[in-house]
Order: sequence, then structure tokens, then C-alpha cells
Amino acid sequence: MKTLLVVGGGKSGLSALELAHFKGYKCFLYDDYPEKIDQPAKLFLNAYEVGLLDKKSVLKKDFDTVVVSPGVPLTNPVVKFFLEKGADVISEIEFGFRFLKGKIIGITGSNGKTTTTAMTGHILQGEEKTSVCGNYGYPFCKALIEKNFEGYYVVELSSFQLELVKDFRPNIACILNLSPDHLDRYSSLEEYYFAKFNIFKNMKRDNPFFAGKEPELMKYKEKLPSHTVFIGENTLPVSVDESGIYYDGALILPAEQLKVKGLHNLQNAAFAISMAMNAGIELKKCVEKIKTFSPIEHRLEFVDIVNGVYFYNDSKATNFDSVKKALSSFKNIRWIAGGIYKGGDFKDFSPFAENIKKGYFIGESAQRFFEEMKDLIDCEVSETLENAVKDAFEQAVPGDIVLLSPACSSFDQFKNYEARGKFFKEIVKRLKNEG
Ligand code: ADP
Repeated sequence: MKTLLVVGGGKSGLSALELAHFKGYKCFLYDDYPEKIDQPAKLFLNAYEVGLLDKKSVLKKDFDTVVVSPGVPLTNPVVKFFLEKGADVISEIEFGFRFLKGKIIGITGSNGKTTTTAMTGHILQGEEKTSVCGNYGYPFCKALIEKNFEGYYVVELSSFQLELVKDFRPNIACILNLSPDHLDRYSSLEEYYFAKFNIFKNMKRDNPFFAGKEPELMKYKEKLPSHTVFIGENTLPVSVDESGIYYDGALILPAEQLKVKGLHNLQNAAFAISMAMNAGIELKKCVEKIKTFSPIEHRLEFVDIVNGVYFYNDSKATNFDSVKKALSSFKNIRWIAGGIYKGGDFKDFSPFAENIKKGYFIGESAQRFFEEMKDLIDCEVSETLENAVKDAFEQAVPGDIVLLSPACSSFDQFKNYEARGKFFKEIVKRLKNEG
């Protein structure tokens, strides 16, 4: 019987264990924090007869394959041990790929992955057998178990998931953009970028590959496959500008016909259309379907209008690049930002100063945001999200946009970005009810 060890008992790791179980492996799990494994996961481990190993015993055993969960860095001592030993150490994505019957559309980049994955899935669904999975919250291995079809798996891929791929080869793929992020995990920016480049490591000329024509990514043009098709301004066959999406130079989708806002979302839609066309969907159908795509929660999501004031929840904007896109999408912005600062140059916000009426800064980095921004824009330290929303609303006039686009992670005041976004929406609801 083959043996499999999973390092890291998160959602993806457990889905790899489940798939391995069905494929006849004897399964083991190692986690640095076994006490954090919750009750449902424990029941699952029991049901699938997974051996939970401590550090001492895991290092004494040999395994046919070691799957490293995306949350576990390669510097983890157990991972390092098996890598140095020359074991078959792979990611959950690679493990799933070994059992895949269908086709993969792979999507990576620094920002816009979830949105583009959802858009691509939205076009394909109803036309082809489609599963939207990966970093999307529905692990690839889980999708393989539950769907087990020969259709399309539209897979959102983070750099962490791409770190340990060997033979993984998407049929169609893209890299949307590159911008600094995750420097808490990588020792250099290039290390992070090059993890993303693993997406095309095994792709051949007959596997369409798309890349965003934007400055940071174009710096690495030589590293991209020679058959890469670029998407951006003045590109062929698909191009994008503020007015909409073009095919062979003809406007096929004016910006105002999309339900999502901003040039960045037009770019995401252009990628989705390009990839769906390569999967065999007619251009006309792609355009028709993308028009019915609604923004996803926490990504520049329209919340409500209260006394003429618009509220947008962009809680997922945890890096500077995504916030720049939000700040370029509106005028008269009352901007709520702050939390745990992950890096980024405040000067990057200066081109958007004229779109910002006032900044309201919260969380651990509130003071820092205030100091860095006070010469550029009117701003205040609000400390909490609740104060920020209330202040912004009180000071707003009809037509103003209250935008939560934090540029920071949320863990100082919230469980995660979803909890932050939900709380924002709750406060807006209260304001509406009070009004
Ligand atoms: P990811 O999955 O890569 O984190 P999301 O689709 O969840 O991307 O969006 C994260 C944040 O980035 C949101 O604030 C969203 O509005 C913004 N965003 C979406 N698409 C892009 C893009 N193409 N470029 C920059 N920012 C983007």
C-alpha cells in the first residue's frame, strides 16, 4: 500500500488526504499545532483512518509522497527534512493533477484571481461541465472527488499552491499581474514572482497562455512562454481601456454594460473572455454571459445607498495595488483604511489624492497612515471601523462614496477580511435602519 503524508491540516491538506484515501493510500498527517485541529477534522481523520504523527515519529518514517499544505512554508523543519532527503514532496494541486481526467484553466496573479476565476466559471457554467475551485475556497482535490468529470476545472492558484508543482500542466492559463505581496513569507520579491511562474512551467505551445500587459509583469517578459498572448491596452486579439473591451480593435463590451466597476475589472473580464473562448465558447456567448456577472463579496462590492451616500466594501483589498484600483474607480471618496501594515509605498496613493475627500484610518497602523497621508489628503485617526463609518457618514454629502479599502490585513481587529467586510455591511445596515 502506498503511503502519503500531509503536512498541515487545513482545508486543502484534508482534501488531499481524502482523495488519497479513495485512491488506496495509507494516510498520515503532521501539523505543528495538533491542538488546533478542530472536532469535525478529527472525526474526518478517524473515519479515514489517518495516522496523526508528532514531530519525532514523522521524521522516522518514509512516505511515497509528501503533500505540503499551502499554509505551510518550505522553511518548515519537517518539509525541509523531506526535501533534503529527496522525497516526493509536492503541493495539493500537484497531487490532484496526478488523478485528473478533465481539463484545467489555471489562474494566478497578485490581484484579481478570485474575481477572474469566478468570471471564467460564470461564462463556462451551463456551456461545459465546470467546477470552480482551488484557492477559491473549494480545494482542487475536493472538486476532483466530488465532480470526477472530464469537463473544466477552473482553478484559482496562489503562489503558495504553485510552489511545489512538478508535472502540473494547465490546458489554458493566465497570470493577471504582479505586485509586491506576501513578503512575510518570501525572502525576496522575485522568489514570490517565480513561484507564480510555475503555472506555465510545463505548458506547451498548444496550451494558450495569457498575461497582463502591465509594467511590473512586462519586466519579466523574457521569462514568460514565447507564445504568451498579452492583454491590456493596444493588444490583440483582446484589448481593454477605460471604455471597455475590444476584440480585433472593435468595441465588443462597453464598460457601462458590466455590473462590476473599474478598469481592473474590465481587465479581469478580458482574461475570462479570452480563456473561455479558448475553451470553445463563442465570443458572442462570452460577452452575453459576462454582462450578467455580479461583483463578489468584499471585492469592491456595492453595499447600499443611505441618504444619497454610497457605501462600497472592498475588505479584500489588503495590499496597496488593489487599493490603488479602488481609489481610481470613484471620485468624492471617504476612504477607510488601516489594520496590520504588510508593506507598500504610501507615495503610490498620491495620483489618487484628488479622488479622496477624506481618509479615516483604523487599527494598528492608523497613526502611520495618518502621518504618511496627512500632507496629501484631509484625514483623521478613527481607531475603529465603527467610528470610521459613522464619522464618514456624518461628514458626507449626497453622492459621496464611503469606501472600505484597507490596504492592510485585518487580524488586529477581526478574525479575517470576511469578518471585517461583514461588520462594515452591518454598520451600514444599522445606519439605514436608523435613518
Ligand atoms: P485575489 O484573489 O488575487 O486576492 P480578488 O479577486 O479577491 O483577488 O480581489 C482582491 C482585491 O483586489 C479586491 O480589492 C479587488 O477589488 C482588487 N482587484 C481585483 N482585480 C484586480 C486587478 N486586476 N488588479 C488589481 N486589483 C484587483
